[in-house]
Amino acid sequence: MSKTKYVYKFSEGNKDMRELLGGKGANLAEMTRAGMPVPQGFTITTEACTRYYDDGRTIAPEIREEIMEYLSWLEEETGKKFGDSSNPLLVSVRSGARASMPGMMDTILNLGLNDEVVVGFAEFTQNPRFAYDSYRRFIQMFSDVVMELPKKRFEEIIDAKKAEKGVKQDIELDTEDMKDLVRRFKVFYESEKGVDFPQDPKTQLIEAVRAVFRSWDNPRANVYRRMNEIPYDWGTAVNVQSMVFGNSGNHSGTGVAFTRNPATGEKALFGEYLINAQGEDVVAGVRTPSPISRLKKEMPEVYEEFSQIADRLEKHYRDMQDMEFTIENGKLYMLQTRNGKRTAAAALKVAVDLVDEGMIDQKEAVLRVEPKQLDALLHPQFDAAALAKVKPVGKGLAASPGAACGKVVFSAEDAKEWHGRGEKVVLVRLETSPEDIEGMQVSEGILTVRGGMTSHAAVVARGMGTCCVSGCGEIAVDYDKRFFTLADNVVREGDYISIDGTTGNIYLGSIPTAPAAISGDFGRFMSWADKYRQMEVYTNADNPRDAKQGRVFGAQGIGLCRTEHMFFEGERIMAIREMILSDTVEDRKRALAKLLPYQQSDFEGIYEAMEGRPVIIRFLDPPLHEFLPTKPEEIEVLAKDVGCSTHRIREALRRLHETNPMMGHRGCRLAVSYPEIAEMQTTAVIKAAIRITQKGQYDIEPNIMIPLVGEVKELEYVKNVVTATADRLIAAAGIQMDYQVGTMIEVPRAALTAGEIAREAEFFSFGTNDLTQMTFGFSRDDAGKFLGYYYDNKIYESDPFAHLDQNGVGKLVEMAVKAGRATRPNIHLGICGEHGGDPSSVEFCHNAGLDYVSCSPFRVPIARLAAAQAAIKNPRK
Ligand code: PEP
Ligand code: MG
Repeated sequence: MSKTKYVYKFSEGNKDMRELLGGKGANLAEMTRAGMPVPQGFTITTEACTRYYDDGRTIAPEIREEIMEYLSWLEEETGKKFGDSSNPLLVSVRSGARASMPGMMDTILNLGLNDEVVVGFAEFTQNPRFAYDSYRRFIQMFSDVVMELPKKRFEEIIDAKKAEKGVKQDIELDTEDMKDLVRRFKVFYESEKGVDFPQDPKTQLIEAVRAVFRSWDNPRANVYRRMNEIPYDWGTAVNVQSMVFGNSGNHSGTGVAFTRNPATGEKALFGEYLINAQGEDVVAGVRTPSPISRLKKEMPEVYEEFSQIADRLEKHYRDMQDMEFTIENGKLYMLQTRNGKRTAAAALKVAVDLVDEGMIDQKEAVLRVEPKQLDALLHPQFDAAALAKVKPVGKGLAASPGAACGKVVFSAEDAKEWHGRGEKVVLVRLETSPEDIEGMQVSEGILTVRGGMTSHAAVVARGMGTCCVSGCGEIAVDYDKRFFTLADNVVREGDYISIDGTTGNIYLGSIPTAPAAISGDFGRFMSWADKYRQMEVYTNADNPRDAKQGRVFGAQGIGLCRTEHMFFEGERIMAIREMILSDTVEDRKRALAKLLPYQQSDFEGIYEAMEGRPVIIRFLDPPLHEFLPTKPEEIEVLAKDVGCSTHRIREALRRLHETNPMMGHRGCRLAVSYPEIAEMQTTAVIKAAIRITQKGQYDIEPNIMIPLVGEVKELEYVKNVVTATADRLIAAAGIQMDYQVGTMIEVPRAALTAGEIAREAEFFSFGTNDLTQMTFGFSRDDAGKFLGYYYDNKIYESDPFAHLDQNGVGKLVEMAVKAGRATRPNIHLGICGEHGGDPSSVEFCHNAGLDYVSCSPFRVPIARLAAAQAAIKNPRK
């Protein structure tokens, strides 16, 4: 077996070796091959990183040896020597994963300096201040990144020094001050670590490589990976590059630039630089950098060379580039290039412009924009400048994107009342429930203490397009005294807070927001996406408003209309409560008759909003007790309204109580016990369809969906009620109307017996919220409490309620697709769980052969793009 190669010179790699060399390493290699001025070095592969973890967090001797071999090569190449005080080689050590993870891992500069080398380095460069400045920076970075000593303590030492000297800027410290800082840093290091600062450059190097490997597992990186679905087992590469010095005088400098504006996409070199500085200074914001355009005046030749390189790089990669450069004594060096991160608006403009410039075709343009990014174009956002000035006080789950700021209220009733008098409110709740709907609707944003990505608050907020941060467990709410505490802050009713549903951040006070801007490029770009996708995209909508919103965003139908949401408003809740309290079938039918006109007119509104497109209506699903009051005063009102004793209502509550309602009397089980419910709902659907069809505008073909089926006979039973009612109504109307009865696949047993179920079901819709909950065996509302431990221990890499678990739940979906089609080849297949709007899950659905995905209105454009990308990557025949 040939020996694994763990280290590559830049000249040995190329841009297609990202998996092994990481993005940064592959691009350094590519620039080297293209003859660009890149300080030479080598890349330690991602395989070395995974080996480090496999070997129990140690660097194997053979990898150390290989690193040392390449170090010797670098010494020859540069004509400098590691640890040689007369002409020392100094290097930078940087991480570089396959996918770019900006700022997530660590960097060390000036490695190779020690007490002796610095003396020689000062002589060699004829610049002692620069030499000692470099050394003190190295001690600082090494101590922080490698030895995990707090950065702040070093900054305090510098501040103390500046105070003693009576100066404000680092640049005002002279050579002797730098020497003194080195001394003080080393004393601090020794007092903390109990040993001297490491003087052997080779030890420094190995320790730095180890620290970069270790940083792959730091909390920041783990969170970033989870958010961006980057697998843990990819590992990071390490780039060791000979140093060039932007801080070696006034003919030196360092900067960062983009070939196009990353905020707007405008085509012009965009960036900034600092004279006499090292890379970290630009990032850290200690001094204000100059715009790149100034370099044209300050160093015209360097600018000219840089802009030519930038142009070449953009043409080579056929995408906007983000580059780091350093100027050492008037000579330009390229330290990095990568496809630049950009805002959603810029991403669209760049993609569309690159097509117009003939650089890429439409298919490639469609692949260039991250579907998730489109979110930012659909919701209001915080004003970027205002946001930069504030710090979050807490963080929850980014449950529904957008920005919201308003006065804190603690109940849905207060939200309605305050909104009624013209206030903007943020509703803060332990968790929300269906009866909070109206209050949620008028709130700018919703913040909850409990609940995950598919909690009630999250699902409903996404449906409404309202910003929501859920599951911020650090908040302690006192409903009675009307305040909450978070990180030592007390926030009272009426105080302003701002929440960011895109990041999960929570801020005190009010931050101005800017409305969503949908530029002209957006429509053009989406028309390309629609051209390539092979799945249809539907929306989940329970009312005409959401249906219209879905249409505006391009929905081709409604994949899930949850009928229970219609029962919570005003008089309807009374009628449904009456129905629940009924003792006889006759009483129940009487109560249901009151609901019928409401339900029918809702469906008519939805049919009209969808202009004849398919609408899949799901029958009543939640456990009935959700409709009953819990507070004593509400129980009294209800007793009065139905004309019974409060005792009877308490009795009913007791009777309906379930230990585990999610696995209890819900879904089709309700229709099995009370067929009259299904009868009333069928009547409402069919009568609404007849009415709209008779108006002559659209021919409606109703789709009725039975939830929570796990056995074909269950479906058969309910379907018989539906068809008997529907056939009678259609015959009575004397018209020709086709309709379909299908089911949700959301109980594992339904997936396992899908072949049998398809005998009765004309369509399947995968309810992956319940299917996930029931396959994993944990509650979608409570999993947030413990999933954190699972991420920390690398048991799960992401929230299975947000990203479909392709390995487990996905297998059930694939199995049901196959069995369903075997029984009924033309069966219509889709998904309506929250995963229908998640890009990686949409890709899975495409590959599994579904006909459509359905998601909240505000995620429709995301699903359209994700479906297009899936089809381009893996077209169906
Ligand atoms: C599901 O379970 O995936 C689903 C769409 O139904 P609900 O979220 O209403 O339970
Ligand atoms: Mg469900």
